[in-house]
Amino acid sequence: MWAGIESQKAMLFASIKIKLCLIGLLAFFWMPETGAQTKDFTVVIDAGHGGKDPGARGSQANEKAINLQVALNLGRLIEENHPEVKVIYTRKDDRFIELNERADIANRNKADLFISIHVNSLKRGSGVRGAETYTLGLAKTDENLQVAMRENSAILLEDNYEQKYEGFDPNSSESYIIFEFMQNMHVEQSIHFASEVQKCFASAGRVDRGVRQAGFLVLRKTSMPSVLIELGFISNSSEEKFLRSKAGQETLAKSISNAFDRYKRTFDNRQSGVAHQAASASAKKGKAEKTQSEQLSNAGQVVYKIQILTSDKKLQSGSRYFKGYKNVSFFQEKGLYKYTYGESSDFDEIMKLWRKVRRDFKDAFIVSFKDGKRVK
Ligand SMILES: [Zn+2]
Repeated sequence: MWAGIESQKAMLFASIKIKLCLIGLLAFFWMPETGAQTKDFTVVIDAGHGGKDPGARGSQANEKAINLQVALNLGRLIEENHPEVKVIYTRKDDRFIELNERADIANRNKADLFISIHVNSLKRGSGVRGAETYTLGLAKTDENLQVAMRENSAILLEDNYEQKYEGFDPNSSESYIIFEFMQNMHVEQSIHFASEVQKCFASAGRVDRGVRQAGFLVLRKTSMPSVLIELGFISNSSEEKFLRSKAGQETLAKSISNAFDRYKRTFDNRQSGVAHQAASASAKKGKAEKTQSEQLSNAGQVVYKIQILTSDKKLQSGSRYFKGYKNVSFFQEKGLYKYTYGESSDFDEIMKLWRKVRRDFKDAFIVSFKDGKRVK
């Protein structure tokens, strides 16, 4: 009898133990999943060149190896500092990837930021040194055009590049005319990130060669803010030594990671700014309703709109970039065209609209106007 009860007890405990283990296992498998769901930002890190394409050649090292090491260091730093950020690499080892495919990886993953990492080169023995960061645009100087030409000539190693890039000849300056007529929708955020990168390079003691524009094929097809960083000059022997060194690669990655921190903070503030505005608007609502009769005139009243796009050129009405949205209007700021959709003095109403619009324009945010002027 006793033995029977004891063994029943033992079985009961065993079954409880199995259940606990199962719960434990489930929790174990669930945890990473729950963690993954909280990631609200995706960054794609693109180590330039790879495989049969060495990139610029130094006397000791090739560009592709430096790019890869800095890219991996950068990804590691971002992952350490931002559990909410998903890091995706276009390559994590020494392999060849076509330029269009690099942009496609970012597009397929609906990335929020694309960072392409490269090393610059001039004639061997040239004393030029320092870092520069590019956003997509028409090169204004021959120097910038040469950088784009060198980087774009990677396509010559791709099969059927003539068809894939619609006859684009990376070595002919005439090919680059397409960048004059191209719309760059994310120019404002791209320049913002590029400036942060240059600031952080300067703080780390790098020579700051500034934010520049040129026609890079790898940036052309990306549909998010994107930059191409030239870490330094492999053609300069002391720079090559720095670029090859573990300490140099860590310094460069740390600078870009610091720039990412600053950029991400602005991104988060903008998101939470909308939520904060919503809370204060609904708190004020009751009071506002009482005095509505006194506010019949529009003068001095704040009007909200949703900014959906920024472009460095004016867009035609009905442009495909508006994704079928009608009655899109724009305002100009710092030489850029900023396109807005919707208009209301009721913040709740504009919030409702913003939630809808955000499905089509991920970066959309609310802007306020008073007497026709943009206000903070
Ligand atoms: Zn390169």
